[in-house]
Amino acid sequence: MSKKKIIIGNWKMNPDSLSSAKSMVNSLKKSTARLTNVQTVICPPFIYISDLVSKSKLAIGAQNVFYEDRGSYTGEVSAAGLYDLGARYVIIGHSERRAMGETDEVISKKVIKAVSSNLTPVICVGEKVHDSDGEYLEVVKKQVLEALRHIKSTEIWKVIIAYEPIWAVGAASAMTSHEVYQMSLFIRKVLMEEYGKLGVGVSVLYGGSVDAENAAEIVSGGQVDGLLVGRESLHPERFTNLIKAVNNL
Ligand code: PEP
Repeated sequence: MSKKKIIIGNWKMNPDSLSSAKSMVNSLKKSTARLTNVQTVICPPFIYISDLVSKSKLAIGAQNVFYEDRGSYTGEVSAAGLYDLGARYVIIGHSERRAMGETDEVISKKVIKAVSSNLTPVICVGEKVHDSDGEYLEVVKKQVLEALRHIKSTEIWKVIIAYEPIWAVGAASAMTSHEVYQMSLFIRKVLMEEYGKLGVGVSVLYGGSVDAENAAEIVSGGQVDGLLVGRESLHPERFTNLIKAVNNL
């Protein structure tokens, strides 16, 4: 039996009200209830998490976490607190956070804190430019290895890597499935070189301008374990079509 594909919706700083968030999640819960080949995860703003968690199959995640347990860190949110609310996933190192100054070192501390708090980290990596001399490969390799530097190889299966080339995030079109395939292969090779067979346990996702039309081809042709979706995850009907397309592969 092949493992379930993972589809994660990153809502970013949307929507504006709890009632909208609830109605979006309720609609998705209903429309995806019978799908058995996909695990759907919604990452809403922190403020909505406790109201959206339920016993349904739809999992809830956060979009960030802090690496300390508690204390004088104004505005930060702890991993234990998120777990206690019912979050089970957390996006770490999204390009929008890296652009605000989040470094590989900070990301690596957040990743180990998430794993030790039973949250699945969804670690975002990706180059700014896909240059023709292939420097982007080194950029992505460094981001992957730095993010995982505190994780024991026996725990490596607990993390998810989301490859999101920055130039394809929020863009007019996604990477081609062939390009996604080259990158998923490259990331798996990096993981195997570092962790041997244990590296195979890591799920590798793609993110960047995925919609209901290109989702299935990106997952099958790109040989990825799932998708990280921004804009389309804010439209329950379109997001459902995207999820169904992958479920039916
Ligand atoms: C993202 O920001 O993580 C993302 C994938 O966005 P979009 O799907 O809108 O390109």
